[in-house]
Amino acid sequence: MTSLDDIPVTTLKGVGAALAATLAKLGIHSLQDLLFHLPHRYEDRTRIIPMGSLRVGDVGVAEGEVVKTDLVMGRRRSLQVTLKDSSGFLVMRFFHFNAAQKSQLAEGQRVRCYGEVRPGRAGYEFYHPEYQVNPPAMPAQGEATLTPVYPLTEGIQQPRVRGLCQQALGYLKRYPIRDWLPPALLADYQLPDISAAVELVHAPPADAPVYLLMEGRHPAQQRLVMEELLAHQLSLLRVREQIQARQALPLLPSGDLPERFRESLPFRLTGAQEQVCREIRQDLSQPLPMLRLVQGDVGSGKTVVAAMAALQAIAAGAQVALMAPTEILAEQHFNNFREWLEPLDIRLAWLSGKIKGKARVAALEAVASGGARMMVGTHALFQGDVIFDRLALVIVDEQHRFGVHQRLALKDKGAVGQLAPHQLIMTATPIPRTLAMSAYADLDTSVIDELPPGRKPIETIAIPDSRRDDIIERVRDACKAGRQAYWVCTLIEESEALQCQAAEVTAAALADRLPELNVGLVHGRLKAAEKVDMMGQFKTGKLDLLVATTVIEVGVDVPNASLIIIENPERLGLAQLHQLRGRVGRGEEASFCVLMYHPPLSLNGKARLQALRESQDGFVIAEKDLEIRGPGEVLGTRQTGMMQFRLADFERDKGWIETVRGIAPTLMHDKTVVDALIRRWLGERLRYGDV
Ligand code: ADP
Ligand code: MG
Repeated sequence: MTSLDDIPVTTLKGVGAALAATLAKLGIHSLQDLLFHLPHRYEDRTRIIPMGSLRVGDVGVAEGEVVKTDLVMGRRRSLQVTLKDSSGFLVMRFFHFNAAQKSQLAEGQRVRCYGEVRPGRAGYEFYHPEYQVNPPAMPAQGEATLTPVYPLTEGIQQPRVRGLCQQALGYLKRYPIRDWLPPALLADYQLPDISAAVELVHAPPADAPVYLLMEGRHPAQQRLVMEELLAHQLSLLRVREQIQARQALPLLPSGDLPERFRESLPFRLTGAQEQVCREIRQDLSQPLPMLRLVQGDVGSGKTVVAAMAALQAIAAGAQVALMAPTEILAEQHFNNFREWLEPLDIRLAWLSGKIKGKARVAALEAVASGGARMMVGTHALFQGDVIFDRLALVIVDEQHRFGVHQRLALKDKGAVGQLAPHQLIMTATPIPRTLAMSAYADLDTSVIDELPPGRKPIETIAIPDSRRDDIIERVRDACKAGRQAYWVCTLIEESEALQCQAAEVTAAALADRLPELNVGLVHGRLKAAEKVDMMGQFKTGKLDLLVATTVIEVGVDVPNASLIIIENPERLGLAQLHQLRGRVGRGEEASFCVLMYHPPLSLNGKARLQALRESQDGFVIAEKDLEIRGPGEVLGTRQTGMMQFRLADFERDKGWIETVRGIAPTLMHDKTVVDALIRRWLGERLRYGDV
């Protein structure tokens, strides 16, 4: 039987080759694709709002009589039309208009308009509203139903998409959409079947509850939301399944390397570290690729855990790759691992985009021959010419910057025949449970939920930048007392060059104000060797104050640093601030974090700084971040693509996550269902399937 999936959009009236090409940009080829191009919101034109009750930000229909039409000359010339109803006034303002419009909107005319309320110089205003002069009286005071608003792309307008969707609905009766969800499930949650749900969201009937639809909580919407979340979950399970369809080298614990390493450490592993090491040890000894995420708060000691895993692989005769998102962090890992592993006679290689010529050839040679047992580096490790002799474990210090795609790219690096490498992913910041369950459904998770003993709490204060001088004195005092400090510069500009320049200016100014201190500077523009040198000088105490851009966000470890000043913290996300703050509080001394903000703070900015002052628990902070900024921001831009939903809203719909997680594995055995749902919801956007 033909299905909507087989009927091309060109079947619809008015869709020729050009429009079909535009629709293809939205991933729409068939009538089914069109029907799953869902409205992301509705406009409420069902009722006329009395002008007296309008508030800034309200979106809706108002209707009244023109009492005045003026041409206003200001910074920009505009046409100002004042309307009046029995409750108050409203101004329509047009910056683009013609003479006909002006005369049409003459005094005494009745006008119905639709727009968003803004505060204007003449009271509340609609800028460029849609409007109708002398509107026909409407049956139910306005339009009968909510008006759907669709995502668009260049070359197609809202009414066009609306019209096409309405046309496509006409086919639903003859060709219902295939419902892939088990009927029992729908019954349990009292959800409508798929065709009914799709029809309702495109064309809500007049009696549908407006408030539910506006909030996305109508059962028809929720049915679609649940299916969408399920499709995402299935796509990740499929990634996992496909990776694990290949075998891995079982890395059986052997020899005494891990024990010798453990004994060489100046501390004992915490209970949480031991537990996570056990979980990893167990995974690595299986002939199935490990896919494990280790979460742990800043300073919880993830690196040592990674080292234990690396040693298990090396002891079993295999090689390890460790990848970090930034040069500085990769370099620090390299130094750490070298310090730990070289005494055990293990050779390491180092690779970043900046390693060129002979040094690069030598590094590649060392891993290809197997002389180097471990390679540490940046994204450069992904490059095609990096060939390992016997790679069996890949460790990614993710810090939220690598995504699913990078994880997939690793699959070909397993150079042991057809075997896939084990993967250990470490994330810098704890991820709220619900979010981890959806974004990392393809991974098993371990949590290091305990900090090493003796950590002192960090006192966090927020001070306006008008008190910059006091803060500089504070730095002077701390450094005079033998401690060290970070000064972090942030900038809104995306340009790295500008950020670096700002840091240079700040460093020079601070050096000027604090002549008795040794002031250093690190930023992304320095040569790798310069950066290492600078970090080295700070670590050994030759520098008192280190001015930095957010490059020090991750991983840098200098226990004697007990003060961190963060300029313009309101520009950063909570997770990033928590990371930065985690640079201090690593030693014996009491530590401080000064958030030097630029007033006035937005409500959102205030909430973030408040959250940071109140808690030092990464999990609590991550929950707050999710609440304030949403999942895309919490996971970082690289992950955002996979968390971009058509209909689902993470905060609103997180109640489904647990349910969906329960259902997904039960559907996995049915390839047809899984394929269909992934295709329906993820379409061409993300081909998780192409593993
Ligand atoms: P993160 O989890 O943030 O990556 P690191 O691995 O950098 O943390 O560890 C932070 C610091 O804590 C390092 O100096 C490390 O040597 C130290 N450390 C790790 N584990 C322990 C432990 N069990 N006891 C004491 N110090 C530890
Ligand atoms: Mg780390």
